[in-house]
Order: sequence, then C-alpha cells, then structure tokens
Amino acid sequence: MARRSVEGRAAASVPRARSSARTKRGAAPVENALAPAPRARFELPATHRGVLAPGERVLALSHVRALLEAPTAPYAEDGPLAVVRAFAAQHPELEHAEDRHANVILRWPGAKRARRAKGPELAYSAHLDHPGFLYAGKRRGVHEATFHGGVPGRYLPGARARFFALSTREAVATARVGTVRKEGDDTVCTLVDVEGEPGPGTFGMWDLTPGAIRGTRLHARVCDDLMGAAAILSTLEWCVRARHEAPLVGVFTRAEETGFVGCLGLLRERALGKRVAVVGLECSPRRATAKVGLGPVVRVGDKQSVFVPWITERLYAAAVALHGTNPAFVFQRALMDGGSCESTAYNAYGVEAGALCLALGNYHNCGPKDRIAPEFVDWNDHESLIALMLAVARGWEAPHEGKILDRLNRIWNGEYNRLAASARRLRAGAVSRRTKSTRRAP
Ligand SMILES: [Zn+2]
Repeated sequence: MARRSVEGRAAASVPRARSSARTKRGAAPVENALAPAPRARFELPATHRGVLAPGERVLALSHVRALLEAPTAPYAEDGPLAVVRAFAAQHPELEHAEDRHANVILRWPGAKRARRAKGPELAYSAHLDHPGFLYAGKRRGVHEATFHGGVPGRYLPGARARFFALSTREAVATARVGTVRKEGDDTVCTLVDVEGEPGPGTFGMWDLTPGAIRGTRLHARVCDDLMGAAAILSTLEWCVRARHEAPLVGVFTRAEETGFVGCLGLLRERALGKRVAVVGLECSPRRATAKVGLGPVVRVGDKQSVFVPWITERLYAAAVALHGTNPAFVFQRALMDGGSCESTAYNAYGVEAGALCLALGNYHNCGPKDRIAPEFVDWNDHESLIALMLAVARGWEAPHEGKILDRLNRIWNGEYNRLAASARRLRAGAVSRRTKSTRRAP
C-alpha cells in the first residue's frame, strides 16, 4: 500500500466547486491535496495461451481497464454503468434496454434476424458493484460511512479508503476506518485521518490500485465482478464484428453484494423474459479444486444451490472441445461454494441458469493477516474465459448431442453380456439358497 505523501496531489482529483482548500487572494482555486491513488498498470502479459487473437487481447484489456478504473460500490454503480452505456452507444447494432432498477440489458439480435429461434437465447450476466462505503454524514463532528457487502468486521479498522463524487466519479477524499459498529443491519464506520471532503453523494472504496498486471496476475481493488462484466463486453463486441448468427444477451446488474438486490428487481419485473438461459459470470473464491492460473471454471454450483444440468453440460462440452483444438486452453470444473452468485437467484425465479467464473484470490479484498488487500485473478484465465464464452456462443444453437446419455449407452452395450451372464448366476444362486432354506425350515 502506498504511503500517503503530504505533497502528493491526485491530478484533477477534485472538482473545483467542491474544493475546501483556501485560495490566495485573486489566485485560481487550489485543488485538495489528496495523496495520489495507488498506481495502475494495465499491460498485457507477454506470455499467454494463444486462445485469443492479438486484436482480441488488446480489446479485452481495454474493456477491463475502462471498467476497473471506474469506481463502484453497491448502489453507486454510476461509473461502470457509464462505461457499459458508452459501449452501447458505440455499438448501435446492439439493442439497449434498462429496467426500472437501472440494470442494463444489451442484446445482439443475431445476424439472421428473421429466422425462427431454436430454444432459449444465451444470456451472460455479471454485476457492476463491489463491497464499499456510502458516506453517511457527520455525527458529533466525526465523518461516518456505512459499509455494504460481505467483509468480516475485523478487516475494517485501520484500512484506507478513497471517496468519490457520484456525479463525476472524481476522488474527493481519503480516510482510514476508525471504529466499526452495527446499527440494525447496517455496518457503520467512523472515518479518521480524513483528507479532502467526503460529503453527501460520495461513496468509498478501498484505497488500492484500480488494476496492476504483474507477471500474469492482475491485482485490483475490484475483480469481483467487473472482470465478469468486461468479459461480456468482449463477447458482445465479438458478436458485432463476427456478425454472429444467433442472438446473445448481456445482463449487467446492480447491488449484487447486498443480496442480489438488482438482480431480484430484474427478476421480479420479468425484465428478461423466460426465453433465455443465463450463464452467470463471477470471480469466486479459489478452492482446492479451482486454483488461480489453472483456467476458467465451469461452475457447477455455489454455496446455496447447484445449477441447471443441461447448461452445465453445454459449458463443459464446449470447454472440452476447445481444449481438444488448442491444448493450451485449460479449464477447471468445480463447486464454487465460497460464495453465492446470481445464478441461484435466476434459478429460484424460474430462469434457467448455469455459471462460469474466474478463481479469485483475496476475495472481497480480504488479504493475509486480516488486512485489506487487492483481489487477484490470473490474466490468462480471463483470456481463456472469453475464449470459452465465444465457443459456447458459437455452439449454442447446435443440436444438443446428449453426450452423457450416448456415453452411458455405449457402456451399457459393451458391458451388457457380462452383466446378464453374472445376473443369471447370481439369481440362480439366490433361488437355490431359498430352496435350501425352505427345506431346513421346520
Ligand atoms: Zn461477485
């Protein structure tokens, strides 16, 4: 973590109207002297698995960078939402809808608009928020903020936060968390060492790098779930460029970290319809069976439920086929029960869902020794996730081969004679035993 330097100034960090710094008579207003934000480094790793074309890698990085540089918190997703809206504006081929909760739905209508749809449309879904602070005002002269999202309280005291204006997303203050208390369901933090001016309409994040790629690792204040959202932008962009035949939907939800709230709004007003099958995208805590750097994960379930088998089978079959054509593409398959994801909510409301995810380190910024730290994922896992999403999209309308049933039938045909012969022997033995025991009976 970068040390605060008194002289440090964040370039254009504060809108002048908000500046509290005194100005010399007649001089231009002086911006608040905030310590600079920890540095970002968005550069593609030299070593990669060759699963994306060079141009696609560059685009993937640009989407990740645009989203990760946008500050976010539950109910304060204005920054990443603006990135998604700008993407939609740049791609008028995409249908752009927003529900009354400001969840965004982008839909590639398919190059063959007039043809009859075969089964449900493929929809990828990701959330735009991440655990963070909403400024709550001053109590007895002390700044306070509520914290929203799943981070154990012991990580909070002493950790540094950076506050942003909702309207401009410019940094307006830095602070450290003082004390933490519960007020009903709310977690309320006092803020100490405050520099600048947090105020109404500001929200906070941990004062960590927006993103730094070192080796093949991406460390960032938010991976979960802006990486999922970035993967959807890459996929939609591919649909437009490749004139993909079938329709494809991208869903960007809000306030996932406080209990899928944005997604619940979407589902309760049936904004998506039932003619979609959803693949939820997440960054999910790594497990013994799903490690950072060993490929994207076909997520069979979460902490609360297991996902729809036919979708999971599709995802798995696409991953196996992709590995067959390019052995450098690797993937994992696991129950990611370190957290819950929106696929559970989709399924509960009758919208069929499966899931893919990236294995995540320092989930929700919980680092070693109870310290707040950047989350991390493997950049190559992200490229492979996009490659897998494209492969799933390409094969989505192919007849469902029912490979599992085929395999089971092949086994049955090969083994049937042995089963039948041994069954005759076992049943004959059972009959003779029954006969003997009948004879012994009094
Ligand atoms: Zn998430």
